[in-house]
Amino acid sequence: MFATLSDRLADTFKNLRGKGRLSEADIDATAREIRIALLEADVALPVVKEFVAAVKERARGEEVSGALNPAQQVVKIVNDELVTILGGETRRLRYAKTGPTVIMLAGLQGAGKTTLAAKLALWLKEQGKSPLLVACDLQRPNAVNQLQVNGERVGVPVFAPEPGNAGGIEHGGDPVQVARASVEEAKRTLHDVVIVDTAGRLGVDAELMQQASDIRDAVQPDEVLFVVDAMIGQDAVSTAQAFLDGVGYDGVVLTKLDGDARGGAALSIASITGKPVMFASNGEKMGDFDLFHPDRMASRILDMGDMLTLIEQAEKTFDAEQALKAAEKLSGKGGEFTLDDFLEQMQQVRKLGSMSKIMGMLPGMGQFRDQLENFDDREIDRIQAIIYSMTPAERNDPKMIDGSRRQRIARGCGRTVSDVKDLVERFFEARKMMTQLARGGGM
Ligand code: GDP
Repeated sequence: MFATLSDRLADTFKNLRGKGRLSEADIDATAREIRIALLEADVALPVVKEFVAAVKERARGEEVSGALNPAQQVVKIVNDELVTILGGETRRLRYAKTGPTVIMLAGLQGAGKTTLAAKLALWLKEQGKSPLLVACDLQRPNAVNQLQVNGERVGVPVFAPEPGNAGGIEHGGDPVQVARASVEEAKRTLHDVVIVDTAGRLGVDAELMQQASDIRDAVQPDEVLFVVDAMIGQDAVSTAQAFLDGVGYDGVVLTKLDGDARGGAALSIASITGKPVMFASNGEKMGDFDLFHPDRMASRILDMGDMLTLIEQAEKTFDAEQALKAAEKLSGKGGEFTLDDFLEQMQQVRKLGSMSKIMGMLPGMGQFRDQLENFDDREIDRIQAIIYSMTPAERNDPKMIDGSRRQRIARGCGRTVSDVKDLVERFFEARKMMTQLARGGGM
């Protein structure tokens, strides 16, 4: 759903690679590109404005970090702001302290309410709850039957009125009566969660709102969830607002996130309504449903794998001063990058965890999983042993390491002469590569 937005943002970040510092012009240009990316993704204008302003302000004020270069810092800021507009923390269901928890669903016809009611019931069952589905959509001819079919699929009973009679309860076609009766039924049959599916219309209308409000007043739900089709674009935002004014709700459920629409609705609703997205539905199968995690959604949009976890760990463990010193040496300032620096860098990286774990957190590394699993972390120990057996002068200027020095070093650390030779060659190569990276390009 967010493919275009992801690509656009990736291009924006790419333009920042290799920059040592962000100028005011860089920040402006980046902000402009992010603005276009969000607008193209159909994100509501007020949300875009706020988002871009926040990114700009933070990019200007950002502390110079030893671990992150400017491009990475911008990625981090954009990620944080995405999490914010998506509602921040994952919001979980509130259960009633006594009696059954009542969850009421509201939304337009076709939003995916009936499907969602069953998905939610299945999810609750998996959490050890005993849900009861309630069919209060007495308008759409097939709605009750559809809920019954879905209920059967997930093995959850459905409380539904027989024509003219609701399980022995007179309802006269009145969904409010059915809803009220269902809570009594749940108490009697020891169901601990009641999911009330209400009627939807093709468009928002006063009668629909009134009926939903009446059901809400009758059953006093613990949670009213607004169900909305993420594919309907900007209309999702106006519908969300209309239901907020007309019925009120505690959380939002986004459906059809598996679709290929631009997804801006999904990114706007929480911000515009101030209500968190609590669940996401992303397919027609009953299991295609889960809690909505703003942070995971943001990192999916930024296509980052677990990059952020890695960035955070880097920030915590990296010695900023040391990293800066190394970067200066590599870019030609502050003397030569020596074997000591090389060793220190490796030790820094190592503090982050095993090499295969670090690489595994990088996006796109899945394909190299086999090689990663075979990476031997003791390799760093071997390199360390060889470097420790050199004199300070040799570490400072590895070019002086000739045949007889190689023999002495090899004896000192219990490795072969060719191991020593290999390491020194690899060091020169790595230094060359890192110097190129530090002087221009590469993130
Ligand atoms: P209601 O009128 O709000 O009760 O909507 P329904 O539950 O009847 O769903 C309308 C249509 O959307 C049905 O064809 C569902 O199969 C489909 N649908 C519901 N949720 C999803 C979803 O997450 N992904 C996809 N692709 N289709 C869905």
